[in-house]
Amino acid sequence: MILVKGYAAQNAKSPLAPFNFQRREPGPTDVQIDILYCGVCHSDLHQIRDEWGGSIFPMVPGHEIVGKVSKVGSEVKNFKIGDMVGVGCLVDSCRSCSNCKADLEQFCEVHSVATYNSLEMDRKTPTYGGYSNQIVVDEKFTLKVSDKLKLEGVAPLLCAGITTYSPLRHWKVGKGHKVAVVGLGGLGHMAVKFAASFGAEVTVLSTTASKEKDAKKLGAHHFVVTKDEGQIKKVKESFDFILNTISAQHDYNFFLNLLRVNGTMVLVGVPPEAVPVRAFSLIGGRRSLAGSLIGGLKETQEMLDYCATHNITSEIEIIPIKEIENAYVRMVKGDVRYRFVIDMATL
Ligand code: NAP
Ligand code: ZN
Ligand code: ZN
Repeated sequence: MILVKGYAAQNAKSPLAPFNFQRREPGPTDVQIDILYCGVCHSDLHQIRDEWGGSIFPMVPGHEIVGKVSKVGSEVKNFKIGDMVGVGCLVDSCRSCSNCKADLEQFCEVHSVATYNSLEMDRKTPTYGGYSNQIVVDEKFTLKVSDKLKLEGVAPLLCAGITTYSPLRHWKVGKGHKVAVVGLGGLGHMAVKFAASFGAEVTVLSTTASKEKDAKKLGAHHFVVTKDEGQIKKVKESFDFILNTISAQHDYNFFLNLLRVNGTMVLVGVPPEAVPVRAFSLIGGRRSLAGSLIGGLKETQEMLDYCATHNITSEIEIIPIKEIENAYVRMVKGDVRYRFVIDMATL
């Protein structure tokens, strides 16, 4: 076994604290990685606080991992010691069901193994995430990272990046589309970069007026403060596509009414509570309400390659791991510009 240092929550109420644990020695197809940076996703906080239910403790969060390969198993083909690599939200799946075969491992019909707060395929061994100094992952779930991009800015691509890239691609967002991104946080700011890069006309819908300048710098063409009735009136029934990244409970009907005929709103934000949807919000304009969950391994690699070609990374604030609780407080306030990334050298 490998001895690993990390930070863990012992229960839904305790703050994160240093935690030593063990990982498996790399098997024939495994890659061992020295973790250099790990992004801080709002899902980390939802799960540490057990807001979605079913959390497994102790919990070492973190699924926006970048680092350097330190060891490879005897059958590993695609990686060698010293390579820069990434690990996202998934570390295993059955690999043989129809969804796995279609490169949609996140929807594995048997069991998709999340990077933390999950059990391995044996359904016994808990998984521990990237707020730690080393991880061991099968090469199929390890991603290649370009050395052209700043590594710390790449980390958030492993979740915030793929979670926004995937629905924009699936719904074929591009030139001629009016797109709204709701919530300018970790996911939202990546959605703006991708949607603008794909050629769409992008509007940010935000509760925070002071984010306007940043939104435009990220590539947005318009900015609407959602509390301002006058501004909202002007964008009623105007969008072809809305990507909703809000992490807290809110009224979906409010945003559905901003879609034009045949428009679609995709939920990627996961507020813990159920929210009522009025039939009138949908039938009036033959609108669709949909959802999307991260992305498969093939598409994640495609996204990373797209980012390398187009020089896209996340806007980040580097923090030492001791600052993590304070980072969560700021995250809940919507005060993240636009992703916290932990420097694992501070562990
Ligand atoms: P984040 O950085 O905290 O951003 C969320 C943004 O939502 C905030 O910056 C804020 O933007 C807005 N917001 C927050 N509370 C709000 C409220 N009460 N009313 C209206 N707007 C509010 O979080 P994130 O890391 O981007 O994650 C966003 C959500 O996506 C989380 O629920 C997370 O669990 C989920 N997620 C889902 C997937 C998936 O696969 N579907 C993957 C990753 C994360 P403004 O200041 O601009 O209003
Ligand atoms: Zn995430
Ligand atoms: Zn499967």
